[in-house]
Amino acid sequence: MQTAAEGLRLSGKKIGLVPTMGYLHEGHLSLVDEVKKRSDVVVMSVYVNPTQFAQGEDLDKYPRDLSRDEKNAAERGVNYLFVPSDREMYPEEHLSFIELNKVSHILEGEFRPTHFKGVATVVAKLLNIVKPAVALFGQKDAQQAFIIRKMVRDLNFDVEIVVAPIVREEDGLALSSRNVYLSQYQRKQANVLYRSLKLAESNLSKGETSLEKVRSAMVRLISSESEGKIDYVSFVEPATFCKIEEAGSLAEILALLAVRFGQTRLIDNMLLKVRQRTQ
Ligand code: AMP
Repeated sequence: MQTAAEGLRLSGKKIGLVPTMGYLHEGHLSLVDEVKKRSDVVVMSVYVNPTQFAQGEDLDKYPRDLSRDEKNAAERGVNYLFVPSDREMYPEEHLSFIELNKVSHILEGEFRPTHFKGVATVVAKLLNIVKPAVALFGQKDAQQAFIIRKMVRDLNFDVEIVVAPIVREEDGLALSSRNVYLSQYQRKQANVLYRSLKLAESNLSKGETSLEKVRSAMVRLISSESEGKIDYVSFVEPATFCKIEEAGSLAEILALLAVRFGQTRLIDNMLLKVRQRTQ
């Protein structure tokens, strides 16, 4: 991959990278559409990175279908599918990791303490291997996208990071490879994440500023209309990813949540406008 990418760069091609864990769906493929607008050659990586899964998480049963991925990626315009093995990515004893303070330890980081260390490390490795001019990530994983942007800035990676909008099913459920774990019954209920975010949007647009009240309304909706177990419903300032409890003078806030349906953990988020009070 390094040799191929170097050849492309030497011939003046602008490389765009889309990192994924495979089992491709329309969310992943929308990143390909976006990267194509910004590059000459599209590289997609498919790698289920073991270092971002903790013991007891779904590494072994994570859905995989490489031949379907190859077909879908090629049809959508991916030029190179990079599918490294664990031995290639982590040969011998791997000792170097990238860890971000603060932001890695809240929200998802509270429930998955080693997750973002694995994510940041594997993305840094992929960026160093492919050396793309531009790399695409999804807003679906908002905290991950923030962390990658921050890492790239903090560590002077020479790449443009672009974050693409969330692709949803018709009923609002965000597309995710993990949705296949849901039973029919759970799948029906799972759009409650989206509906709770829309409820927050509506409350904020009506002038509510107490995020505690917004959270309570969301929790009530989720608990009364589904069997989902809430890990968190939180609000952050989009520019800093710091948790907030009052909308205050912010024009926009980011609402994020994680809800478990049986063994399946779903995450979602939405950028919400805050109605500014006229003096
Ligand atoms: P994953 O294979 O789950 O690691 O996802 C690979 C990339 O696709 C990440 O940047 C995700 O944020 C992005 N992605 C996953 N689901 C969606 C979606 N529903 N809409 C937009 N991007 C997504």
